[in-house]
Order: sequence, then C-alpha cells, then structure tokens
Amino acid sequence: MLRTTPVPAFSDNYIWLIHGIGDPRKVAIVDPGDAEPVIKYVSNQELEPAAILVTHHHWDHVGGVQHLVNEFGLPVYGPAAEDILGRDFALREGDSVTLDELGLEFSILDCPGHTAGHIAYYGHQSLFCGDTLFSAGCGRLFEGTPAQMSESLGKFAQLPGDTRVFCTHEYTLANLRFASAVEPSNLDIEAYSARARTLRDQGQPTLPSTLDLEERVNPFMRCDQESVRSSAEHHAGHSLADPVAVFATVRAWKDAF
Ligand SMILES: [Zn+2]
Repeated sequence: MLRTTPVPAFSDNYIWLIHGIGDPRKVAIVDPGDAEPVIKYVSNQELEPAAILVTHHHWDHVGGVQHLVNEFGLPVYGPAAEDILGRDFALREGDSVTLDELGLEFSILDCPGHTAGHIAYYGHQSLFCGDTLFSAGCGRLFEGTPAQMSESLGKFAQLPGDTRVFCTHEYTLANLRFASAVEPSNLDIEAYSARARTLRDQGQPTLPSTLDLEERVNPFMRCDQESVRSSAEHHAGHSLADPVAVFATVRAWKDAF
C-alpha cells in the first residue's frame, strides 16, 4: 500500500506527501499551497522531495510551488489546460507520470468542474483528486458546469471501490451534516459521522477516504439514488428530469446550506 503523509496547511488543507516505494525518504508533494509547513516537515523527518504534482491552479494548491522549486530544484507536473507557474510537464487525460526515483506511476484523469482544467492522479489504488471530490462532498463549481462535475465524479465511480481517495481539504464533518440533511435515513452517513467526529476529536484527519465509502455516503455521487432525487425534488419544489439536474440542485442547496 502506498505510504502517504498529510501535511496540514492553512486552516483545513492537506498537502499530501507520497513516499517512494523503494526509498520512503523520497517524496512527491501534492498541491503545495504553502512551502513553509512542507519544508519544516521534510527537514524534521530528513525526507528528500523529488517532484511536485499539481491538480489545479488555485492559490491554496500552488502558492508554495516556486519556493519549493528554489529550495529543492523539483520538476513540476500540472494540468495542461491551466496556467501553472513553473510547470515543467503539462498533463491531460491519457497521459501518465512516471517518477522513476520514487518507483511511482500515475495515470491522469481530466476532471473539470471545480476548475476548467482540473486533473486527478490515479495509481497504486490511490486517487489524488484535488478539490474535485471531498469526503461526503465535492468542490464548488467555480469554472465548470453541473454536467461536467457529474461526469468527472462518474469517472471516479468507475474506478475500483477500494481506491483510496486523497482529498485536499478536511471538510468531512461539515459535509456529513449536509449529507444527512439530504438523506436523513442513510445509516452509513450516521455511522461515518460518529467515526469522523471521533477522529477529529483526537486531532486525526478523516482522510484518505475510499470510493466504496463515498458511494454510500456522498450525495454528489448518489444523484441516481431515489432517496437523493426525492430529497432534491422536495428542496427544489418540482420534479427533476435526470441525475445531472439532481446534482445541480444538490450543489446549489449545499452552497447555501
Ligand atoms: Zn480549488
């Protein structure tokens, strides 16, 4: 199993470090919004950064890239369809990233919705999905449409259920409060809420999640379920034609929740 470390940044971001398979001291850094906590962690633990992987252009995902490149001279991988300062390798769906030094390989999925050019890194039973999928939630639609985001989440749903999901924000408890408003009788949401609360009380991250779990608790991945559709229709006050219309309603509901 892939070894990872979440480095907390800002109020609720995680900058994931992916450890090399042969040599766990070598790490790839995912979405470094801030260089300081990463530099502090790698120097304390005597780790060697080897690459930066970026999912999208938001400042809280790229703000530390230049500083880390200056400090460690790292190659920067990022989405082809977005402006990423310092990017060396422009990636889109169908591409793969091979990090020889780390013994790691990821394939790239396009997942527009939160931003227009957002990508995810998939490999080693792990999905680094930036701000596309959160545990029990999904990213806001800053640049994309409900249809695009539904399709992106649908793409994730095609991956094996035991895929671990490395989201970049600790939003789980707030997302679960919304999820239980959408599906008050979903027992998986109730059980997960209790587990997540215990973890947070102990100062532990709730992440990574798994796709299996998300398919049971995440309203945005359950827009084809009768319980989510009827709840969304009740909220909208009219019937909804298809899962994309359900998604759009649930997303707008969450934005104002
Ligand atoms: Zn973002």
